[in-house]
Amino acid sequence: MNDTVTGIILKQTDYREADVIISVLTEEYGKLSFVASGARKMKSKNAGAIMPCTIADIQFDYKPQKTMFRMKTARTRNLFRSLHEDLILSAAAQAACESADVMSLAGEEEDSSPQKYALLNDCLTLLNEKKDPDLVLCGYLSEMMDLFGILPDVDECVHCGSLKVSAFSAKEGGFLCEDCARRLNVPLRPALDLKRLRLAVKAGMKHYEEAAGAAQSFHAELQDLIAVLQQHAGIEIRSFSFYNRLFDH
Ligand SMILES: [Zn+2]
Repeated sequence: MNDTVTGIILKQTDYREADVIISVLTEEYGKLSFVASGARKMKSKNAGAIMPCTIADIQFDYKPQKTMFRMKTARTRNLFRSLHEDLILSAAAQAACESADVMSLAGEEEDSSPQKYALLNDCLTLLNEKKDPDLVLCGYLSEMMDLFGILPDVDECVHCGSLKVSAFSAKEGGFLCEDCARRLNVPLRPALDLKRLRLAVKAGMKHYEEAAGAAQSFHAELQDLIAVLQQHAGIEIRSFSFYNRLFDH
């Protein structure tokens, strides 16, 4: 009966007196939840292996139709040690894991689970290599939004198709030409800013290096992508507020 699944730990929630519930993204089953009994006790063997933003092999008994299981044991497969030693990198990793968590329904039958898993794994790997967290998150969110069909249009005016763009609107879902921007009361932006946003969206994580060489900072671009996610997926990802607060100092 012992099944083992490899998954990225997205979140830990305290449960009862000494237990925790972990939310785990797997390739095979999408998102699953596990009750880890006694994980908050000092002598728990499993506690270290169910830390968010790590990959673990989890032993349990799989039953179809169920989305919550009792965890038997857990063993760390990839700790992403470097990212956990840095406050900003670990905040970025938490924001990515929270995004994956809120953008996945437990037990949903979906073909995109292997892709979601691969994207989050890529994101944590880049953060662990101490890459620029703003650009990594831009790439991760872009590729996730592409998967969900909500990637902003950064090729032309989303309203009239004009190739001469002068503004960006998260609400409208992409670039706007000057006329459409004025009509919708969207502030115009310098061409260079729009170019950088287009780069951040198009590069994804695949072309991280090319994008990284093209601009100093992608912090403003990240804010635009977070705004798109909130507008079009209707989700608030609290970890981004914490991440941004670290930058404001
Ligand atoms: Zn237009």
